[in-house]
Amino acid sequence: MQIDNVRLCVDQAINLSPMRLNGYDLDRIPCDHRFVSETFDHDELLYRYACQAQDSSTPSTVFKLLLRWLPSDFILRHRLTLDENMTFMLAYDVYHTMKDSYPEVKRYKARPGKFMSKLGRGPHFCQAFAEEWAEVILPLKNRLDGYKIRVLESTDDIVDAYMSFSGELDSCLCYELERYSTDGIHPAVVYGGESNVHMAVVSHKDSQGNDHDISRTLIYDKSYVKIYPACDTSVCQTTKVLLKDRGIANGTTDLDGAKLNLVYTERGNVVCPYLDGKSCVEISTGVGHINEVGEDIKPRKYLQVGDTGFDTTQSSYYEVAAFDPETYRMPESPDHVCRNCSSDVYTDSDSLRYNANWDWHDNIVFCSEECMLEYGHVYAYVSKHDMGWVHSEDCQMYGDNWYFDDAFEEHDLVITDDGELQHKNECMNLGNVWFLLSDLNAELLLCMSKLYPHDDYITEMYELYKEKD
Ligand SMILES: [Zn+2]
Repeated sequence: MQIDNVRLCVDQAINLSPMRLNGYDLDRIPCDHRFVSETFDHDELLYRYACQAQDSSTPSTVFKLLLRWLPSDFILRHRLTLDENMTFMLAYDVYHTMKDSYPEVKRYKARPGKFMSKLGRGPHFCQAFAEEWAEVILPLKNRLDGYKIRVLESTDDIVDAYMSFSGELDSCLCYELERYSTDGIHPAVVYGGESNVHMAVVSHKDSQGNDHDISRTLIYDKSYVKIYPACDTSVCQTTKVLLKDRGIANGTTDLDGAKLNLVYTERGNVVCPYLDGKSCVEISTGVGHINEVGEDIKPRKYLQVGDTGFDTTQSSYYEVAAFDPETYRMPESPDHVCRNCSSDVYTDSDSLRYNANWDWHDNIVFCSEECMLEYGHVYAYVSKHDMGWVHSEDCQMYGDNWYFDDAFEEHDLVITDDGELQHKNECMNLGNVWFLLSDLNAELLLCMSKLYPHDDYITEMYELYKEKD
């Protein structure tokens, strides 16, 4: 309703109101005047009408009618409008006096003639008002004729519908598939089929006779969720009336308790769109049963809508539309692969999926210790006190421990002639080669003295061992 239109109505009302008040028995409508006896000045009245017109879907023709027959402050106090459910009756507030507290406001609806008789008007007056009301209502009733409503029950039909919407019917479920993190699956797969969540689409014939989709909503349990486009009050109103009129839905639902289809992406995440109403989903399993013909029906796994689980309204989730079934978080992308088994590695330590096993100096990453061992890594001394994972080829073993590169020197270990690591105290260095003392014999020293003929020490040792043997 145009503000100018409201202004015009109010101007008329202000001029007419005092006259119209005559003869009304306002007390016939229960009203505690202690709480509603304020009088409105011109601006306040204008403001209130504008609000009322905006909040309700009452067309200006009905407001004008009301203003011609009733005092304006009375219309405001009792919030007289066309009934929101488009029963084409008149809706109004009644104040019930409560003991020691504010009055309770209840909303009623009545046929226009009956309403006037409640106000104490005679039968002729009531009939005249009812006739005028019917005249004003007629075009509104006829307006419903050009509308069609179809209910989509299969998942495929619902997905196709979402993908075809544009303009005002667009929402975060109408993006290109690549934009979601669902590996090409449309988020609306959670609806339709076994979920029992359906979609109603209203279309309207234009002047050329072509049908155009003008609104849509999800339907669950004979109730509707949210009507799109949400900003257009009159389209919403028409949709509500059509849903009720055709027996599809009456009243709203927040999807609480709905069992949406459970679908996994290729990467193992769970597909779920941003939800209107209750925003959380939890993976649940129903109970199996034996059907009428004796078949064993497996329990259905589904996404239960409610207050617990994964919150689909968290920031930027609407364009992700998939969550991790283990962490109940938005899917994280692995940033590395395991050198041994090539599976995903998450190196962010804040991630619930963190599984990075780095080797010494963070050179190579593995998904697990098992993979490190399988690859040939060992946990070795890399210096006097530090240990780390290094490849066994770069290490020597002594006793039960591995020693990396030259770290063994710091542990007083040496590599002997046969490539083994031995304790320095048990070895002897002859001609820059380490020998285990217990391995020394005359034969070996003879070879050594031939190799190093000028090494007096070796010659001396040879003489010593020759006598021993
Ligand atoms: Zn691995």
